[in-house]
Amino acid sequence: MKRLPILLAVAVLLSSPLAMAKTVNAVASFSILSDIVKHVGGEHVKVSTLVRPGGDPHSFEPSPQDSKLLSQADVVFVSGVGLEGWLDRLVSASGYKGRVIIASQGTDTLQMKENGKKITDPHAWNSMKNGVQYATNVMNALIAADPQDANYFRQRGTECIQQLQKLDLWAKTQFAAVPPEKRKVLTSHDAFGYFGHEYSVTFLAPVGFSTEAEASASDVASLIKQIKREKVSAYFIENQTDSRLVKQIAVATGAKAGKELYPEALSNAHGPAATYLQAFKHNVDVLLASMK
Ligand SMILES: [Zn+2]
Repeated sequence: MKRLPILLAVAVLLSSPLAMAKTVNAVASFSILSDIVKHVGGEHVKVSTLVRPGGDPHSFEPSPQDSKLLSQADVVFVSGVGLEGWLDRLVSASGYKGRVIIASQGTDTLQMKENGKKITDPHAWNSMKNGVQYATNVMNALIAADPQDANYFRQRGTECIQQLQKLDLWAKTQFAAVPPEKRKVLTSHDAFGYFGHEYSVTFLAPVGFSTEAEASASDVASLIKQIKREKVSAYFIENQTDSRLVKQIAVATGAKAGKELYPEALSNAHGPAATYLQAFKHNVDVLLASMK
């Protein structure tokens, strides 16, 4: 007689949500993807980020600590299409044997030029249509990793997708209201291929301008010529720390240096681009302001 209530209590405990609650240990390659995993995964996922906010996802040197993170992971998320060239080595160094989810799977890819060579453009998340695909892939992977929390992930995933779709529609409406001849941006960020394609914005690369080396006098001269020729009112170059240079361009052309863009890394938590949604909205706002 004494045994039955105990067994009953155990059965009740096992079927209660408390007993089913699980935390998925996830690793995401860079801050934007990490945010999508957090958004969909909520309290059932602990996400570690390899390339932290502000970091460059292309060139990254994993540390032994990163290798340890992978070895303890249930699931690993990457964007794919060539973004994380450093990943394969990290996976084999860590001994990680689980699934590597390619979040861009199923998106239509575009080509881009890199050092004169045609490659598949890895910056797929910068169109919200693709963002929806990322969120869908993340949702399905989390359901596979933790089927008991499937309903939770499905609900959060659906909410995330709806927010991305809303933002997509908003961006399309905003850009459509700008005359086509003004819908152009001069920037040294090469991460806007999908963005330009989706929202009909032309992104011009600065002529003869290198972000790695200090700009030479002739670089600056060609940039000034180009700004005048293309009639752009604002330009976005990654290295805007040289205020002398920025001033010189402004005086010669009347164009202003645009605010900072966040095409492939989030800002820190207090910055203007702490989440994927905020980063996208911020980029759209800043680019729109530059066209006015
Ligand atoms: Zn990039």
